[in-house]
Amino acid sequence: MQVLVLNSGSSSIKYRLFDDHANGLLLRARGLVERIGESTGRAEQVVVAQDGTTSKEADDAPITDHAAGFRWIVSRLESAGLADDLGAIGHRVVHGGSEFTAPTVIDEAVIARIEAQVPLAPLHNPANLTGIEVARQLRPDLTNVAVFDTAFHATLPPAAYRYAVPERLLTEQGVRRYGFHGTSHAYVARRATAALGRSEEECKLVTLHLGNGASAAAVDGGRSVETSMGLSPLEGLVMGTRSGDLDPAVIFHLIREAGMSPEEVERVLNRESGLLGLCGDNDLRTIEDRAAEGDETAQLALDVYVHRIRKYLGAYAAVLGRLDAVVFTAGVGENSDTLRAAICADLDVLGIRVAAERNDGQRAAKAPDGVVAIHAEDSEVAVLVVATDEEREIAEQTLLAIRT
Ligand code: ADP
Repeated sequence: MQVLVLNSGSSSIKYRLFDDHANGLLLRARGLVERIGESTGRAEQVVVAQDGTTSKEADDAPITDHAAGFRWIVSRLESAGLADDLGAIGHRVVHGGSEFTAPTVIDEAVIARIEAQVPLAPLHNPANLTGIEVARQLRPDLTNVAVFDTAFHATLPPAAYRYAVPERLLTEQGVRRYGFHGTSHAYVARRATAALGRSEEECKLVTLHLGNGASAAAVDGGRSVETSMGLSPLEGLVMGTRSGDLDPAVIFHLIREAGMSPEEVERVLNRESGLLGLCGDNDLRTIEDRAAEGDETAQLALDVYVHRIRKYLGAYAAVLGRLDAVVFTAGVGENSDTLRAAICADLDVLGIRVAAERNDGQRAAKAPDGVVAIHAEDSEVAVLVVATDEEREIAEQTLLAIRT
């Protein structure tokens, strides 16, 4: 059977197709439909042959809506002979609230429950729902499964998920910490545990998902016990364009003193802050190049970014009570040796020691199993770089949901 994984955004659909083989999921195609609803659209697909060789095809033409995007995807998969045995679609859904703690087969009632979470995730869930509705309309023969970014963090204990606010805000408004990037944290935690040759129960890890969005999680015995994102993906680490943690009084100040509307403040904190706000760029490669050339603003942005992560690392070591491994993943975590070195510098206090010769130039994607150890021989804590694969995890969770 084949499983299609869809990640539907407001103007794009990213997808991957996996073959469910006896020896695991095989990636057969990946693609992207973007600029949906704009005057110029683009769609591309990369087909992965059995021997691992790839071939790419692309279309530059307007894509009127998500339904047109979905039709493009299915027709391209069909013409590549890859959709003969399509059985299920796994949809990434950002916010499951307290409602969804596991991958869920989608029916009308589930759609209504996902819609009920929209007030918690107005920037994400509506697009995810559009993808689900289009897939159900155009391919009613397939089983659709929702896989939630929040689900892995459903195990957070109350001490970690409660904000210190009146209980009615929790019961009436759902105000609590949920956590995101759960699919990635779950996947890399499992890979790291396997690479260490340990059982899940005995492992205490901090996983650092550092991409455009960024979050940290403390994972104890395979369960998330603390994470840096909260009610929304805005809390926590410094990100590409999101501020991460700040004093909530900043928001009242901007509304009262600068006359900004709540929507403007929301936009500034989500889209104009983080690395972009600090130095005018949000692509870490560009910022690192600027800093290397002596640009002080770019260096400051990196310093704030690294400082925040180190603070969380120390806090999560205390939450866990012992640390077995730190795991770096996503675009920055997997690729930037300088950032990994800066984050782990002088952390003897936590038993963390990175070996420069193992870290320098290291890219997780280049390792055969996607896992690289970069800690020194005498480091008490393992430091691993693990290539994340959220789509593969969604495909696995989708199969799990339809088989249980
Ligand atoms: P998303 O959250 O959009 O999935 P990614 O996980 O792809 O993001 O991460 C994107 C970030 O990773 C960007 O800031 C990019 O600059 C950074 N990145 C990618 N490759 C490298 C690299 N070789 N060195 C440093 N940063 C990199």
